[in-house]
Amino acid sequence: MTWNQKEKVILIVEDDHKSLKLIRDLLTLSEYTILEATNGKQAVKISRKERPDLILMDIQMSVMDGLEATRILKTNEKTKNIPVIALTAYAMEKDEKRIREAGCDDYITKPINISELLKTMEAYFCDN
Ligand code: MN
Repeated sequence: MTWNQKEKVILIVEDDHKSLKLIRDLLTLSEYTILEATNGKQAVKISRKERPDLILMDIQMSVMDGLEATRILKTNEKTKNIPVIALTAYAMEKDEKRIREAGCDDYITKPINISELLKTMEAYFCDN
């Protein structure tokens, strides 16, 4: 690997505590540095302040959902270049369209496949 994972800060946005714990444990094992948010509003606030290297964004959340949060992030100079990977329980054709239109760079369907998640994330870092 040509990049140091410890230097990569990942923001996990997830309102389901079990899913959040699973992803947190997995990414900590992989030595990423983790930030957490449990709704879209929090995610926008943390992203502007901390500028994470990548965001894993749940779609269905209360207060502000992942699509709205992504739209806000992608229209702000400070945050528009941060890759956003949507975490979604469904990926029918129309959902993929909605996810892409909101500005998400990629998506992963739940239940989360660990190697798929890591591979998708790494693709964004290896190009840098
Ligand atoms: Mn959710």
